[in-house]
Amino acid sequence: MNKPLILVVEDDTSVRNLITTTLKSNDYRFLSAPNGESAIACASSQQPDIVLLDLGLPDLDGVEIIRRIRSWSQMPIIVISARSEDSDKIAALDAGADDYLTKPFSVAELLARLRVTQRRLAAMNVSQGGSTFRNGQLSIDYGAGCAYLSGSVLKLTPTEYKLLCLLAKDVGKVLTHTYLTDKIWGSSWESDIASLRVHMATLRKKIEKDPDTQYIQTHIGIGYRMLKTE
Ligand code: CA
Repeated sequence: MNKPLILVVEDDTSVRNLITTTLKSNDYRFLSAPNGESAIACASSQQPDIVLLDLGLPDLDGVEIIRRIRSWSQMPIIVISARSEDSDKIAALDAGADDYLTKPFSVAELLARLRVTQRRLAAMNVSQGGSTFRNGQLSIDYGAGCAYLSGSVLKLTPTEYKLLCLLAKDVGKVLTHTYLTDKIWGSSWESDIASLRVHMATLRKKIEKDPDTQYIQTHIGIGYRMLKTE
């Protein structure tokens, strides 16, 4: 398999060097761009496998860059942000980012996020056109409208099933509360988010019976992600 090509978009030279050095010593190929315009040009001409995007750039807003890239490509975008405010991350995720890292981050964290995204890419390639989803002991037969755990039918409510399908469709990606409630109920009031928590809790009780298996990760104040198990 080819080494993945990562586009690093970061205006801070020391952070950019840290990232590219890490990538180099971990067998990734990389390109780098110091601002938004060059990032967009590079993304379209070089077609990287994954984009690591700093949200605070001198020329363009990071969320705007995500929107522009998403208008023609689904390439995975991991946002890197010095801002710890959840609202920036949520705006980036809702614009189409796949994941986020908050500065300062460790090298181990960066590599972990890249691995999650690569698994997501691999899962996307496998599942294209398929009518069955598989992740560890969990599976969904979309045609039958049924989900299974270790081969046994899961007794899910319609909302739990819908929620599971949404998470499965974007396995490995962080989905915001707004995105999920919008897809399920067509709205995203505070009360919808509260209901979402309840449905999520009941769904998790059913699919995470085995305490060693975690399928869903909670991102407090942001949303949820289905983890791709090896
Ligand atoms: Ca910056």
